[in-house]
Amino acid sequence: MKINIIEIEEEGIDIDFSETLHEPGVIDSVGDVVAHLHLDRQLNEVFVSGDIKGEIRLHCSRCLTPFQRYIELDINLTYLPIEEINKMETYEIKDDESNISYYRGEQLDITEIVQEQLILSIPMKPLCDEECKGLCPVCGANLNIQKCTCKKEEVDPRLSILKRLLERKE
Ligand SMILES: [Zn+2]
Ligand SMILES: [Zn+2]
Repeated sequence: MKINIIEIEEEGIDIDFSETLHEPGVIDSVGDVVAHLHLDRQLNEVFVSGDIKGEIRLHCSRCLTPFQRYIELDINLTYLPIEEINKMETYEIKDDESNISYYRGEQLDITEIVQEQLILSIPMKPLCDEECKGLCPVCGANLNIQKCTCKKEEVDPRLSILKRLLERKE
């Protein structure tokens, strides 16, 4: 879904977005992702606010099992034309800089914005459950489902950090 920036009127426009997001290795939604957004414009500066809701397919970083997570986000972003990057004072970073993004050309790609925001909200290491027991490092069994008889070193977690630090020094 793309919006012509010039068509964003003074009083702003409301957008109802509903699309299935599917890009292998990047994002995979269960059914449609729905977003209600409001776009405002001041010359070539565009402000996007609203909410995004959807269910995303993820893989647990510990046990590798696929699972689904419902994500709900509020967004508040400013989009500037990409040409503005060059005009800015080099490395003069404003406090609210993190909410500034850039667009290219005369259109704003809403699908891309929604996708980007969802990806940013996904943890680096998603877990199917905070308590996920993961896989046995020896036999690969999923310890959430079965027990295995492999012998594991029982190390106090604090000691194991120390051990790792010592190993790194060597
Ligand atoms: Zn897991
Ligand atoms: Zn095992």
